[in-house]
Amino acid sequence: MAQCTLKPDTEFTRALTEAGGESLKKCFQCATCSVACPMAPANAPYPRKEMVWASWGLKDKLQADVDLWLCHNCGNCSDLCPRGAKPADMMAAARNVIYKDLTSPSIIGKWMSKPSGLPFLFAIPALLWLVVWWIRAGYNGGEWFPRAANGRIVFGQIFYGDYTIDPIFMLTFFGACFILMRGVMKLWAMFKPEGGLTVIGKTKSWIWHLWDVLWDEVITHRKFDDCDDGPATQKSAPNRKNGHMLLVYSFCILAFVTAVVAIGHWGGKVIPMIKIETPMPLTFPVKILANIGALMLLAGLAVLTWRRMCLNPAKQVSSYYDWYLLGIIWLVAVTGVLAQCLRLADVIEPAFVVYYLHLVFVWMLFAYLPWSKLGHFVYRTAALVYVRMYGR
Ligand code: SF4
Ligand code: SF4
Repeated sequence: MAQCTLKPDTEFTRALTEAGGESLKKCFQCATCSVACPMAPANAPYPRKEMVWASWGLKDKLQADVDLWLCHNCGNCSDLCPRGAKPADMMAAARNVIYKDLTSPSIIGKWMSKPSGLPFLFAIPALLWLVVWWIRAGYNGGEWFPRAANGRIVFGQIFYGDYTIDPIFMLTFFGACFILMRGVMKLWAMFKPEGGLTVIGKTKSWIWHLWDVLWDEVITHRKFDDCDDGPATQKSAPNRKNGHMLLVYSFCILAFVTAVVAIGHWGGKVIPMIKIETPMPLTFPVKILANIGALMLLAGLAVLTWRRMCLNPAKQVSSYYDWYLLGIIWLVAVTGVLAQCLRLADVIEPAFVVYYLHLVFVWMLFAYLPWSKLGHFVYRTAALVYVRMYGR
């Protein structure tokens, strides 16, 4: 008879427990969750098998488990679990523990995993932008809150785009992309799917699978309907699909606006006709679009925050990772809107301080992306492309 040696990793089980999977030991393997999950495929369904791997500390199995990334965290399985083992929380905890270790420096992943790391995460950009402020104030004859020649508040007087904001955010963004890419390659190399299908005939290129994933998961959020079409769970929480769509579309609008302003600014140096001056007037179309994006962001955040507050703690709880991401996006949105209001109200000191905080929070959002729940979006997309290519 073939023998199988199990290598339990107790440190991994402890990390899972800390990341939100503390109820997993209650599982008695009834498989109700796998039946309840609207996403699980018929061959080797989840999350029952993941529950047993997690409680045995089988880190290798969970790391190689592509199914972990198919889960939409809808909570149907937890609602119907007769033991209160919270399988949805365990699936989220396993993803958090795995992707936090995919990238280096791992110290950031450690800081990201608990509130005690927050002061370090905040201190890095706070110091960075303070040094920028101090240097620029030196150029302005020691003036920390200078006005433009026409007497208006212009944040660029201190946080000058060409030499501070643009290069710092470019480096941060592309640095985060590079770290994420390495993380994705590492994750992809670890996958060893259970219950594969043999794909006969011509298969599609990965690029078309990526398009299918973007269409189903990002653009239309169609897969979220499958969660709602699952077994009745008597849940009454705000619609997660609407909150997610508002957030995703607002990010797209704000990214588009940023790109247009960057093209207008840098392109305007070569083609003066396309030059965009900042700050833009409130009636300028790009500014109108930016403010629509900001309002959608606030609305999406409100829906998702309210939904998390409505969760029944006996069935599903929000982890520190969930609150960290929601919190940082709230701070980015609120400081962005507030900085604009204070600038228009012409109160110079608070306007500059709030704008400084806005830069700190935006930097935190992008620089720590590979270790935060937002990085999950990229890892998950990669995993979904993988499962479609694999034929799961
Ligand atoms: S998590 Fe709950 S529903 Fe799933 S197998 Fe364990 S006890 Fe059953
Ligand atoms: S949270 Fe939803 S998608 Fe994830 S395993 Fe449970 S039922 Fe399936």
